[in-house]
Amino acid sequence: LRTERDVLAAVPDGCLIDGVWRPTATVFDVHDPATGEVLAQVADATPAEAAEALDAACRAQPGWAATPPRQRAELLRRAYDLLLARADDFALLITLEMGKPLAESQGEVRYAADFLLWFSEQAVRIGGEYRLAPDGGSRLVTTRQPVGPCLLITPWNFPLAMMTRKVGPALAAGCTALLKPAEETPLSCLLLAQVLIEAGLPPGVIGLLPTGKPAELVGPLLADARLRKLSFTGSTEVGRELAAASGKQLLRSSMELGGNAPFLVFEDADLDAAVAGALLAKLRNGGQSCVAANRFLVHETAAEEFVERLTEEMSAVRLARGTDPLARLGPVISEEQRDRIALLVSDAVDRGAKVHTGGAEPAGRGWFFPPTVLSGVPGDALMVQQEIFGPVAQVQRFTDEADAVRRANATGSGLVGYLYTRDIGRALRVADALECGMVGVNRGLVSNAAAPFGGVKDSGLGREGGFEGIDEYLSTKYLAVDLG
Ligand code: ADP
Repeated sequence: LRTERDVLAAVPDGCLIDGVWRPTATVFDVHDPATGEVLAQVADATPAEAAEALDAACRAQPGWAATPPRQRAELLRRAYDLLLARADDFALLITLEMGKPLAESQGEVRYAADFLLWFSEQAVRIGGEYRLAPDGGSRLVTTRQPVGPCLLITPWNFPLAMMTRKVGPALAAGCTALLKPAEETPLSCLLLAQVLIEAGLPPGVIGLLPTGKPAELVGPLLADARLRKLSFTGSTEVGRELAAASGKQLLRSSMELGGNAPFLVFEDADLDAAVAGALLAKLRNGGQSCVAANRFLVHETAAEEFVERLTEEMSAVRLARGTDPLARLGPVISEEQRDRIALLVSDAVDRGAKVHTGGAEPAGRGWFFPPTVLSGVPGDALMVQQEIFGPVAQVQRFTDEADAVRRANATGSGLVGYLYTRDIGRALRVADALECGMVGVNRGLVSNAAAPFGGVKDSGLGREGGFEGIDEYLSTKYLAVDLG
């Protein structure tokens, strides 16, 4: 059996430039959120190294774009197989660096692998059109071309899947890419880069730039006219800054930003299903997900029973280091996040919310926060407008469908909404009315590599996964053809 130490030792050292792992002058620490201890030290790439990686990406770009789609597809398929063959190592790395229970990390590895599989299938389906102009005078031919070198920036919450969701379509489309993992969780991404190289990716097609100082590294890359695309997943705050910086070069940009998902439970809902869906939508990834249910809005006739049953389930959840086979909830990512969640809870309680379970962090080491259920959270509480990003459920009541929709839409975010009802007319009506990019209908989980993931309003721009995902990495060229 491979130990934690074996798996950590297998993580490549350095940053990846032009197909070579290179040591850097300095390193930065990666912590185990369950203990606070240092897990590993990782190469700290500098802006000069980033520029070299971009040089290599630019050199590799024409050859990669000209590589037959079938060959790109087969390479992604090989990477999918290699990733799954090492699923246990990847899962352990995710648990160590990010904290989620091993079973969930295994789920993330399968989800991450799915993007490689899906985009290996899409690589050979990049289409074009041949049309007659309306006046019959010419032919309108469209082709799709890769946008060029991309910068892919990912967050710590799904360290592997957020990267495959970007690098899969980028490579399928024929783009070269620089990967910039989150400083909290670079380990699984380092191993992913090695898997892509083992699968046969030519030098320079990907570069990997871990850094403890993201702004310093990313700023000059965004200002470099040779970079053609930014795909970012992270906070709305940083996303706005990077979108503004991208505007200077008119970079293509995709922004997967924060959410504030409403979870609506109507009076006719199957309450067993709603509670099971609520647990999934709240506790998956410890609530540290942009699609986590942030506000449970329950019809006034069902609210009391919903709170009771959710409390019963949440208080039975075992909190432990993610490597503990009995753990159902791990630590949150950092002390800072733990303190922020605690502050949101105390703010709600100060304003009159009632605590049904949890509410305060346990003593001892590690950045744990217990599953918490609150009711009677007033509209002006901070957690109503902010993303909680932790295992805290707040339940509010609504009176009728119009009230439910109004409350659901009363935030700046628009990523996902969930609704539970047995009435198909209502389900479709409310799904239409929700201001968001995705809706879970009688289901607490929407993520799927074959579906378009993304939001509206402050939740960002663009879609990842599905048929749409590859479009973000392609530009359309139109040929006006006169047949003479
Ligand atoms: P989170 O709150 O989830 O940590 P962030 O938006 O801070 O979200 O981080 C998401 C990603 O953005 C990480 O890879 C991080 O290193 C990167 N990042 C954070 N700040 C900046 C910045 N100013 N410029 C470029 N990248 C940044």
